[in-house]
Amino acid sequence: MKPNDLKICQFKDYLIELYPNPRPTLQYRNVFEQIIAISLSAQTTDKAVNKVTAQLFSLYPNADALSQASFADIESILHPLGLFRLKTQRIIQLSSFLAKNEIKLQRDFLESLPGVGRKTASIMLSSNNISDELAIDTHIARVALRYAIAQQGSSLWVIENNLKALLLRDFNLWHLRLISFGRQICTSKNPKCHQCKLSGICFFVHGI
Ligand code: SF4
Repeated sequence: MKPNDLKICQFKDYLIELYPNPRPTLQYRNVFEQIIAISLSAQTTDKAVNKVTAQLFSLYPNADALSQASFADIESILHPLGLFRLKTQRIIQLSSFLAKNEIKLQRDFLESLPGVGRKTASIMLSSNNISDELAIDTHIARVALRYAIAQQGSSLWVIENNLKALLLRDFNLWHLRLISFGRQICTSKNPKCHQCKLSGICFFVHGI
């Protein structure tokens, strides 16, 4: 059963109370650094990415420089991150393309880049104020499913559309709120339902 209007209001109010002015936690100085940082952020923390990108961007400040780096050198920098071999391959491939093509903040262009999908494109577009997009990642999908905003088994596309219909606008801010909530409270393992103000009305807890 979908949450009623009151439950949706309580959900939104609680997330605003927890995260009134959410800010991105990945650090970058330009769109090139941003797209590389997002590419490195899969299955790790933003804190870990910021640590390696501080060194990476000081040694390889643009696409041209990074495209010419050796795999071994980049692997040694990315080593603290999970999937560091795959990520090395991806960011060198991405940089090789961007060394010859200026980044266009357009969905079609972004989604045509090596290793870039809808989620990364949505973050790039909304965080750079090009268009209001709601990027869905695993944390956000989990929160939406637990609160019955979408049914179990729903595609990311359905989850995105259901959330957009409830949140209405300012999707970049909602993305940041939802992702923080999923990382800090509605965690994948052992969600902190005992401290969550939604526990009295949450589908995950009560099945109502
Ligand atoms: S009550 Fe638990 S499952 Fe429901 S939103 Fe809160 S943390 Fe997530």
